[in-house]
Amino acid sequence: MIPTHPFNDLAGWIEQVAVLPALYRLGLMRWEFLSFGWVLVALYGLAQMLLALGVCMPLERLWPIERGGNARLVWTDIAYTALARIGILPIATFVLFYTAQTWLNGVLVDHGYIPPMLETMIPPLFGHPVLTFFAYALILDFADYWRHRLSHRFSLWYALHAVHHAQRQMTVWSDDRNHILDEIASFTWFMMIGLLIGIPPLQFPILLLALRLVESFSHANIRLHFGRIGERLLVSPRFHRAHHAIGAAGLRSVNYGAVFPFWDMLFGTADFSRDFAPTGDATAPESMASGGYLAQQWAGMRYLMRTLAR
Ligand SMILES: [Zn+2]
Ligand SMILES: [Zn+2]
Repeated sequence: MIPTHPFNDLAGWIEQVAVLPALYRLGLMRWEFLSFGWVLVALYGLAQMLLALGVCMPLERLWPIERGGNARLVWTDIAYTALARIGILPIATFVLFYTAQTWLNGVLVDHGYIPPMLETMIPPLFGHPVLTFFAYALILDFADYWRHRLSHRFSLWYALHAVHHAQRQMTVWSDDRNHILDEIASFTWFMMIGLLIGIPPLQFPILLLALRLVESFSHANIRLHFGRIGERLLVSPRFHRAHHAIGAAGLRSVNYGAVFPFWDMLFGTADFSRDFAPTGDATAPESMASGGYLAQQWAGMRYLMRTLAR
């Protein structure tokens, strides 16, 4: 039984009037049982975009780090966000994750193994769903710290990640500005971790969306830091901007953490001293910085080929 909640009600309604008829027409009724969850996750993604529009954009106007800028470039980043949060994320983190988890657990049970669960690895978590949810978030963020750090370490991977760093005009929409192959690599990485610790299927997309909410905010063009202690508890726009600083692209970067800064403090990559530096990657091709969506994706592909040829 699905509890009544405005999001659930709206998702149920969209499922009934649009998704189920479309699945029926396309002969895809075998996916019917996943359609509600898929619509719900897409709606959460849409709600995040509305939050960015209604809360972060006014703050960007009130206390900007940089004024002016090119509206066309921001529109390209908005397209990235819509594609990632409403298009790719619900498929990758719910439909694919659910399918992979059902398959994996089936294979394990068939061979006499118990499917992995975080609560069996850390027994005190049993019976504490909120604490377990935070433990999942902490583990995913730790995994993301290393994924991000390695994407700067290997030049082939950085050639794709450069699409994210080429942006000279950061806004609340810049978090999802990624090469599609880089995005697939991240989702695969997150899925593997999610399977290893047995995150329940509907919690997995909600966790990733919650982490990405903080990430969107840390890209915002808002002159804001959280104070001496706060800066060490949650990644702020000031902290993440140091990661994007123009002289710190590629190997020389700092502040890889997406949500919690303590991974950087623990592994010696934290830098709290930089104050709202200009951003971008001077070594990236111009079309990666100021081209449209397809031009940026193509530039990433060419950058990858050139790095491969060297
Ligand atoms: Zn980076
Ligand atoms: Zn970033």
